[in-house]
Amino acid sequence: MFTAILLSKNDDGTTAARLTQLDDAQLPDDGDVTVNIEYSTINYKDGLAITGKSPVVRKWPMVPGIDGAGEVIASSHPDWKAGDQFILNGWGVGESHMGCLAQRARLKGDWLVRRPSGMSARTAMAIGTAGYTAMLCATALQEQGVKKDNGDILVTGASGGVGSVAIAILSGWGYRVVASTGKLAETDYLKSLGAAEVIDRAELSAPGKPLQKERWAGVIDSVGSATLANAVAQTRYGGTVAACGLAQGMDFPASVAPFILRAVRLIGVDSVMAPKAKRVAAWGRLANELDMGKLATITQEITLAEALTKAPDILAGKVRGRMVVNVKG
Ligand code: NDP
Repeated sequence: MFTAILLSKNDDGTTAARLTQLDDAQLPDDGDVTVNIEYSTINYKDGLAITGKSPVVRKWPMVPGIDGAGEVIASSHPDWKAGDQFILNGWGVGESHMGCLAQRARLKGDWLVRRPSGMSARTAMAIGTAGYTAMLCATALQEQGVKKDNGDILVTGASGGVGSVAIAILSGWGYRVVASTGKLAETDYLKSLGAAEVIDRAELSAPGKPLQKERWAGVIDSVGSATLANAVAQTRYGGTVAACGLAQGMDFPASVAPFILRAVRLIGVDSVMAPKAKRVAAWGRLANELDMGKLATITQEITLAEALTKAPDILAGKVRGRMVVNVKG
């Protein structure tokens, strides 16, 4: 038997979430690697699943948890054997395949990434999908040729998981980062992560003109909606915007003007179905290039039981940085 969060559907369609005991026979058949989870985490999507605020769960009952790190205990997959240390992010885990907010899981070996040597399960989950997505976004800016002397980089949703790690990565690489936040009281926190300047997100969140004063050489946006439209409208000639999120909304009320008059590039970033080579590269760079001291300052540890009560907070934008879940706690 092992402890897990289990989601089920009430008669009225709402989601019921509870801490319960499951046994191995309840783990999914369509997996070839059985693992002990040591740490998981709460991402924005886990908040949506646990509260039922958005239909991210597509099979019931469901163990949520899109991220997990721990040790393989049994495997029929050629790449994995008992004792191997892994990281799992996405692939529909915690949505259509039982997830990692549990002490045990059965997963597909093809989904797993080997945990870089020296990186603990706790550190991997402090980074989690949010941090790995921040690395995918930062890498996208580099791949598009955004250089540190091109100008400022805007990071929106700055005090959230993606935003906090993005600031730490970009400032570590020597970029000048401007953080946009709704929590100006967190200015010292954002500067300690490496932001050179902090702006009020209200400057970006209302509908704006299709072309605005050129400010950003690059943007990492986890907010979407009018914020993304304004960020694109303020991007300098030839600059790049990496879009990965929708904390403000899924809409994109923009015009083509920045694309056809300023050659602005808008790059979509997805972590869930990203190919394995991209994941391995991102985790390798996180292991070597992310300042682990900064990561520690953005991380709070909670238990599985606390994950239930903290889930609404992440949707309400009340969480600073990252919540790592000690599933044994
Ligand atoms: P968090 O909740 O940790 O961070 C989101 C931040 O966005 C908040 O902290 C807040 O920052 C800001 N925010 C919240 N509500 C609003 C609003 N109404 N208007 C403007 N800003 C707002 O979530 P994550 O960092 O984990 O994820 C961020 C987004 O990225 C989510 O939409 C998530 O679904 C998406 N995502 C996508 C991935 C992909 O593969 N494409 C992977 C990971 C995440 P502040 O108070 O500082 O303004």
